[in-house]
Amino acid sequence: MTLDKRGKNLSSKFQATVYLDCNATTHTHPLALQTAREAMELCYGNPSSTHISGLHAKSFLESAREAAAVAVGANDPEEIIFNSGATEGIQSSIFSVLFHLLRQFRETGRLQRWHILYGATEHKAVPAAIQHWSEVLGLPVEIESIPVDSNGILDLEFMESRLAQTALICTMAVNNETGVIQPLERISELLATSEGRGCLWFVDGVQALGKVPIRLSELGAHYSCFSGHKLNAPKGIGFLWVHKDAPFTPMIVGGGQERGKRSGTENLPGAAAFGRILKALNDPKDSIFMSHSQLEECRQKLISTLSRCFPTLVWNADLQHCVPTTLNFSVEGVSSRELMNALDAAGVRVSGGSACSSGKTTESHVLSAMSLPKWRSQNAIRLSFGPANTPAEIDAACLAVQQAGEALRASCMIPALPASADQVAEFLKHTGPGVSELRASDGTRAWLVMSHGGASVLVADCDQALQELNNKLSCRGLQGTHILRLDKPQTDPMPPGWIQIKTQSGTSLLLVSAPFSNVQNAQENKSNVSVLFAPTRDCLDEIQQGKNSTLDSCEAILACFACETSALTVYDFFSLHELNSNNLSKRTMQGASKNTLAVSNAASANDRIECTKEELANLFSEQEFTVLDVREAFESATSHLDEIMNQLLKTSVTGQKSSQNGVNFKILPLSRLPQFLIERLEHPRSEKILCVCRSGQRSLQAAELLRRLPGCDAHSLKGGLAELLAPTVSLPPRSVIPTFNGS
Ligand code: PLP
Repeated sequence: MTLDKRGKNLSSKFQATVYLDCNATTHTHPLALQTAREAMELCYGNPSSTHISGLHAKSFLESAREAAAVAVGANDPEEIIFNSGATEGIQSSIFSVLFHLLRQFRETGRLQRWHILYGATEHKAVPAAIQHWSEVLGLPVEIESIPVDSNGILDLEFMESRLAQTALICTMAVNNETGVIQPLERISELLATSEGRGCLWFVDGVQALGKVPIRLSELGAHYSCFSGHKLNAPKGIGFLWVHKDAPFTPMIVGGGQERGKRSGTENLPGAAAFGRILKALNDPKDSIFMSHSQLEECRQKLISTLSRCFPTLVWNADLQHCVPTTLNFSVEGVSSRELMNALDAAGVRVSGGSACSSGKTTESHVLSAMSLPKWRSQNAIRLSFGPANTPAEIDAACLAVQQAGEALRASCMIPALPASADQVAEFLKHTGPGVSELRASDGTRAWLVMSHGGASVLVADCDQALQELNNKLSCRGLQGTHILRLDKPQTDPMPPGWIQIKTQSGTSLLLVSAPFSNVQNAQENKSNVSVLFAPTRDCLDEIQQGKNSTLDSCEAILACFACETSALTVYDFFSLHELNSNNLSKRTMQGASKNTLAVSNAASANDRIECTKEELANLFSEQEFTVLDVREAFESATSHLDEIMNQLLKTSVTGQKSSQNGVNFKILPLSRLPQFLIERLEHPRSEKILCVCRSGQRSLQAAELLRRLPGCDAHSLKGGLAELLAPTVSLPPRSVIPTFNGS
């Protein structure tokens, strides 16, 4: 592994990757690693032991405590309690305050102050802890969130209006999603007034450490929490600062460690490593961190690259209120998932909203609290670097962002930039005639049906996002796309080959006959192949089963084509909201009587669809295997699955050489899978397929669908590319996995 001077692996196996998700966590700095190692190898005594080994360990711990006190401006190192991290610190602080109130309530039968306030943009651990502990303790407190303005800054007037009855205020120094800095000095002034003086103040300092100066004692705060892993120390170590006069009740009792405030043998390697990082932070001559002006320069580079690559980008927080290391933005017309996938493929690791909610396309509670429009809070991307990054890494990130931007542009995902003729041609090569799924940035789905001649029809079931989808289509050179709505009767003449049918319950269905498709022989077989679009699964059931006595759906369909055919094949899997293995079916209708379901049953639960990285070599030793890259074109354009897999198979992921007999690579984005299914249903063939995507989710979906095809033995690579590219670490296997036998 090639490490740069800050100990990071710049040259990963296949492309330079730049980790810009430092607000979620950071790499462990080599100095921290070295110190942790020394603590484990040389200084492994128990700090509570009174022999010399114990004393050595104790001295390591106390030196880390002193460094922590200096870093956060605490008057007394004894006010520092080492713990597992910020979430624990949040619990300890809130529990302590609430327990203090409970005592008062028990003694006097009333609460002098009964409001608990927290910032609307706090980390979820804060409101969750307030809710949880007040319920556990049965305390009659009133919990309110402090609103923020459109810049994410706390409403101090709101705070002031409740100050006299407030027992605890929880605010953060710097927001984890936006990087917005809160005006702690002004809150400090409020709390110094006669009304504020009896109120306790918790400050979440996690994201401020190493980015802005922290002066806790001067501020007059009472509690503040920190996590080592946010600043290049290991995970599982953090500290809580508690002012010496603030109420404190330990949550963990036992051996009396940490002056009785947090029992349990200390995490000495963690504390020592964190201490080493804090020493470097306290000493401006210790050059492991970039200076503030260097961080500013890095931010400017990223800002200009991002703005150039994504002209519809909007910043979700006013940059002048933010730390230089966090950029939060949304790109109009591109969902955060698409943007993340494109950046990930190009080698830049960022997150959508906060780390806790990534994976789900939920709205960010932080951006919603700032009253940003839904599309922005749903599609936000957070790019966060840290003081331990290097200017070279930021340059590499800018280059990769540019590549991701170009790939998205070539896929017409950035409609503000019309693609060139070459790009359109390239796009059509991948997207060709037939059926594709189209998704808008808000998640709305539609189906695009393109004929050989380039005529196109978009099937949608709502107005939502139609404009955006249409823009994307015109960028792809598809002018004058006909829009058909499933939720409305068509008033305009239907495009050639299309009809609208109504079921007994009044739901409308759309049917298109074959000429659009590139199914072989479609020309000769025109009226025999049709595709049915239904708005819901229920509707498909109704038409499949001819549920209502008066409607024999098959007859109804045949009647439409009566003059042309006596046998009709209908693919009725286009329920607009989902394409899954339950609604995939092909029916062949001979006259009105025969009605055959031609799709095989779904794989049985015992049948293993997923195969692991270790099983790949076995799989590839079989004859003729197709690897399907089901990622979208803007991902496969910047990271080539065939190169990655060939490289891996040369050295072999299992340690043995793979014969690689007849492995074919094929790019088939999930959005194009419908057309592939039609073609294979029309011309079944016996084949073995391995689907691969980034994380293993989309490939599993694809494999499940493909398995319904007669003769198709489809599998999905568990963990996807992420697993393939995972660094080799000597951990025991996760579990005993039965050997994959390819059947
Ligand atoms: N507070 C803030 C602002 C954070 O960003 C985080 C982590 O994302 C936490 C608290 C919780 O930290 P940890 O998960 O290390 O306990």
